[in-house]
Amino acid sequence: MKIIMLGAPGAGKGTQAKKIAEKYGIPHISTGDIFRANIKNNTELGKKAKEYMDQGLLVPDELTCDLVTDRIQQDDCSKGFILDGFPRTIPQAEALDKALTAMGQSMDYAVNVDVADENIIDRMSGRRACLKCGATYHIITIPPKSEGICDNCGSELVQREDDKPETVKKRLDVYHEQTQPLIDYYNNQGILRTVDGTKDFEGVFQDIVMILG
Ligand code: ADP
Ligand code: AMP
Repeated sequence: MKIIMLGAPGAGKGTQAKKIAEKYGIPHISTGDIFRANIKNNTELGKKAKEYMDQGLLVPDELTCDLVTDRIQQDDCSKGFILDGFPRTIPQAEALDKALTAMGQSMDYAVNVDVADENIIDRMSGRRACLKCGATYHIITIPPKSEGICDNCGSELVQREDDKPETVKKRLDVYHEQTQPLIDYYNNQGILRTVDGTKDFEGVFQDIVMILG
């Protein structure tokens, strides 16, 4: 099963993608997580990506596409994978299609998690992340068992630098301009499925499972 999660930043893609990856036994590939790991490890890629991420801009396609097209050719992706935060531009979607065609494969579903901009601000201002294991919480809707501490690994939770209100506004503009056109792109391919992302976590999860079967 090869799945793309589409949706605005903060729509709940990562939260759902982790659970879907677990249920279907496929790897969860988040470009945002890969960039954050590179920033943490102070790699050359991390240094370059940070310049864009801190401003709420997209990391250029030339730093992003090969990362994913190489990743999906690894052995653990042979039964499928779930992409979270990629593709985010039409050229990225085309690069993905090209790589899959060369592998004799194609995507099965693009799941669009639909949440209006008004709700996104609340989602992102309340998001807390564990930079050690990648778990994500929300201070009100999906709180950790003990405030500020990751349930999974006990590390301290932080607010992402790019979740500050000024940057969120920019990220939403970038989403509408560069990423939203992918909804038509995958609709034209016949693989787009849209779920109401304003439901609670379980409600959205059930709707996605109904689609994937
Ligand atoms: P994305 O990966 O799309 O940027 P996340 O999965 O990180 O978004 O979710 C954004 C924030 O919203 C997080 O704080 C998360 O805990 C919270 N969240 C995710 N899904 C829901 C939901 N269905 N209802 C309420 N809050 C949610
Ligand atoms: P995310 O964790 O998906 O919210 O991504 C955080 C940030 O990483 C984004 O705002 C971008 O700056 C960058 N990023 C993640 N994925 C991509 C991508 N596919 N293309 C370009 N930039 C990306």
